[in-house]
Parts: sequence; structure tokens; C-alpha cells
Amino acid sequence: MIKIFKFGGASVKDAEGVKTLATILSHYKSDEVLIVVSAMGKTTNSLEKLVESYVNKAGNVQQIFGEIKQYHEEIISGLFTDQNNPVYDDVANAFIEIDWMLEDEPHTDYDFNYDQIVSIGELVSSRIVGAYLNSIGLKTKWIDARGFIQTDNRYREGRIDISKTCSSIQNLLEVLAHQFVITQGFIGGTSENFTTTLGREGSDYTAAIFASCLNAESLTIWKDVPGVLNADPKLFSDTKIYNHIPYVEALEMSYYGASVIHPKTIKPLQNAGIPLFVRPFLQPGESGTRIDGEPDFDKSFPAIIVKKEQVLLSLRLEDLSFIDEAVLSNIFNTLSLADIKINMMQVSALSLSICTDYNEPKFKRLLKGLSGYKVKYNTGLELITIRHYIRSDIERIIAQRIVLLEQLSRNTAQFVLK
Ligand code: ASP
Repeated sequence: MIKIFKFGGASVKDAEGVKTLATILSHYKSDEVLIVVSAMGKTTNSLEKLVESYVNKAGNVQQIFGEIKQYHEEIISGLFTDQNNPVYDDVANAFIEIDWMLEDEPHTDYDFNYDQIVSIGELVSSRIVGAYLNSIGLKTKWIDARGFIQTDNRYREGRIDISKTCSSIQNLLEVLAHQFVITQGFIGGTSENFTTTLGREGSDYTAAIFASCLNAESLTIWKDVPGVLNADPKLFSDTKIYNHIPYVEALEMSYYGASVIHPKTIKPLQNAGIPLFVRPFLQPGESGTRIDGEPDFDKSFPAIIVKKEQVLLSLRLEDLSFIDEAVLSNIFNTLSLADIKINMMQVSALSLSICTDYNEPKFKRLLKGLSGYKVKYNTGLELITIRHYIRSDIERIIAQRIVLLEQLSRNTAQFVLK
């Protein structure tokens, strides 16, 4: 049976990380394993900066690009002693693609430029990891995900054509029977052979697609945390790990913004009944968290999900008419056209309040669409969602903060905070 392993940027952030990945894989020599990797460390952020300065002609393009290349060269030199290893050419060729783009005028579509450049992070990372695995005798075939993950041409949020994608991926069955396969998360290709990306943190989603199309036995996401925790350990002390989470609960958590799993990851796995393991990269002996269709779930402590960079928007009609169903339908249509996802909302007789992620270009588009309404908004807010709460949890978590909007249902409490 096939296993899918996904390693994120934090796991492959240096030569040591790549070696740890190899040690993990060495325990699975008798399995069929397909490996999905992200760009190394914070490379995607650096490539985003590169795109921005290239498009805006900011002048520091070569400096940013130089740092990205140097970072990868250091990792390569920590892994390979043989200067003739093909990895040197493979990585140089991937970076030359960026050089060529930088020599040309940027395309008028920012997102198109973004995808052609930012995707190189994953291509380089998978080249390095694949070459290292081969160099220590773990036979691994590198494949280009753009030939398998087929998307439309919505750059930066490519939508996968699942039937075309699955029929290409199924061609890998034969290869997997003889060797490991390594590919890139986050990237896809259009029918005209342009590169797309699937949205930040999209590698988990890629891994879930490979798992479902190959009808894998399981997907394991190796992370720099012990498993799925009930809160972000950077924000809360005394966090607890879940041993088991049902798919439905994982969907709810990722919907409310739990960043440990990409929201699109669960559905393909749930449809195919494939369990997802979130396991600690640095303690591979630990079992981490299992997510599957079994219903048992520990509700003796709350799950706390914090979403930052929120904006709270309140809308009224100029003539103080009621916010009735016709008005709501018009507003929702505008939100959908501006591609805005509602994180929380509340309606009263005369006003509608909506909390959403703050993304400047999208938000400006939205305000234009809402020009017929009286709009007030507040940015820089935080949305805290508490699942399976008891009253004392709320007091403890929200203490001393200014609450702008709150909503309590039996299972879920949400607060928009200053
Ligand atoms: N490298 C991409 C990112 O940082 C995709 C991923 O890691 O999932 O968002």
C-alpha cells in the first residue's frame, strides 16, 4: 500500500533537516512512498519579496535573489561532497528560469508573475531532497508536479481539475512499486503549460490530492509540532495534544483558521476514507495525531483558534431601511464577487456586521462594490474562536480585552477583539 509523506518548509530548512527526512524514510524502505515537499525554510516569503520588487522595479531584485541562491547553496554544500552530483546543474537550471524572467518586463498580471517565480522554491527544494536521498542509496524518482496537478488559470489560487489530475497521477503506480517518488507541494500547471500555485500553505492540499488519487493507505504530514494541539503554543501556555480528531471536527477547526492543516486538505481524504497523521518531524517515534472517520474526540479542554489581521465591517443603508433578505442577497453577491470569505457575521434591523481576513486589494474591490451602503470598518483586529468551551474558558481567554462583536452557540464561541 502507498503512503504519502509531506514535509513542510520548517522540516527542510537546513542540511540537518534534509538528513532527518532521509533518516525517517530509511525506516520505510519496504513501503511505496510518495514524498511531497515545500520550499525550504522561509523561501516562499523571500520569493514573494522578489516578485514584488521585480514588478515594482524597486532596485533590490538582484540582492534578494542573491540571498535566496546563497541560502540554497549553503544547504547543498552541507549535503553533498561530490561536486559532480547532478543536483548542482538541476538547481542552477531552476534558478536560471528566474533570471530569464527578471530580464523581461513583468507581465501585466501580477499573480501570473508570482506563480512563475514563487513556484521555483518548491522545484529547487524537491531537487535537493531527491538528489540527497539518491546519494545515500534511497532510490527516488523526481517528478514535476505541474505535469500532474492540472489547474485552471486562476493564478495564485489555481483550482484543480480533479479528473484530469487523478488520471495522470495514477500513471505513477508502476514507478512507485520500484522506488520512492518525490514531488512538489503547492504548484500545478495549466493546459497551456503555465505554472500556477494553490494558495499559501497549499502543499498539504497537494499531498491530499496525491493520496486520494493513488488511493493511499495514509497521508502523514511531518511537522515541527508534536501533533495537532488545542491552541498555538506560541500564543498559549499549557497546550494539549489531540491523539485523535474526527474529520468533521478537523474541518471545523481548519475553517475557523487552525493553521496546522490547510482547510482544503481534509475533504479529499474524507471522501476517500484515508487517515491523516500529523506527526513530529523531530520525534518520528511519536504517534502524533490521527484524523479519520471515527467519532471519538476529547472535549474535556477547549480548542482555541486565533486569526489575526481581521477587519470588522459594518454596513447600513443610507436611508436607514431594514437589512432584509433582498438587501442581504445583494451584499452576499458583492462579497462573493470580491472573493471575500466571511469569518463571522451578525445582522440587526439596520446593520450587518462582517468579520473577514484583511487583504488590501480584495478589500478595496469590496468597498467599491458596496458603494451604495454606508460602510464603517476597523482593521488590525483579532478573531478568537473557542470550540467546546465552558464559561470559565471564555473569561480566562478574553480577559481584559475589548470585545467588538461576540457570538455564542452551543459548541462554538467567537469574539472579535481589539
Ligand atoms: N511553500 C508554500 C508556502 O510557504 C507552500 C507550503 O509550504 O505549503 O506557503
